Amino acid sequence: MFWAENWIGTGSLELRFRRLYNLSCQKREPVKNMGYWENGVWRWSFRWRRRLQGREVGWFEELTGVLRAAQLVENKQDSWVWELEGGGSYSVNSSYVFLQGQNLGETNPVFSWIWTAPAPSNIKAFAWRVMLGRIQTRDNLLKRQVIHTAAEALCPLCGRVEESCSHLLFTCPAALLIWYDVYAWLGVSTAQIPVGEVHLLQFASIGSNKSQKLGEVAIWLTVVWSLWCVRNRIVFSGVSYLKTKFWSRFSLNRGSG
Ligand SMILES: [Zn+2]
Repeated sequence: MFWAENWIGTGSLELRFRRLYNLSCQKREPVKNMGYWENGVWRWSFRWRRRLQGREVGWFEELTGVLRAAQLVENKQDSWVWELEGGGSYSVNSSYVFLQGQNLGETNPVFSWIWTAPAPSNIKAFAWRVMLGRIQTRDNLLKRQVIHTAAEALCPLCGRVEESCSHLLFTCPAALLIWYDVYAWLGVSTAQIPVGEVHLLQFASIGSNKSQKLGEVAIWLTVVWSLWCVRNRIVFSGVSYLKTKFWSRFSLNRGSG
């Protein structure tokens, strides 16, 4: 089902493009009826209840962008693929690892580190939402159609990649500058991990006893919270990060200890 099913891998198109779906005359068609093959090239063919106008045209462009990522193959049967294994076959081990990763209930040790760290409760609550993937980064806004284009979803710090929680806080070049300096200050060198939970646990492990570990968690919370505040200041003031006082001060102070 072209609109209803997650055949493209990034969610149902009906949910993502609700307005276009409402205008479609092909609401219940399978993918193969949404276009035709022409000399080995797949051509999409949409029918709408009326001409698209205004923002609908932009959404349609976005839809065709999404569809460009879909590789349709002529004369080949559909088949199920287990995405967690390279070979596409199901394995118990890969599902076990996946489910472990999903286990972010309150019993997860990362939550007890967050809640017992010496930090203000709003910052702890923020970190808790980071762990659950519930902060309003632009990838989430795009999914919920609060924003509509890939350009609007770019990271406000670097402007190069779609903003996700993991990118913004852990892998963005701007965030990495901060993390590298924090690690240098603490006298450790380590690989950067893009998963919040593992990142925090690794950071806590810098401390050698419980109270030191809680101190490290407090530093971690400070960095993550500061990145979020800077990000918000940039988003809500519309200023490029290079022009903000924060970054100019930061670069001036680099190397001065
Ligand atoms: Zn970035």
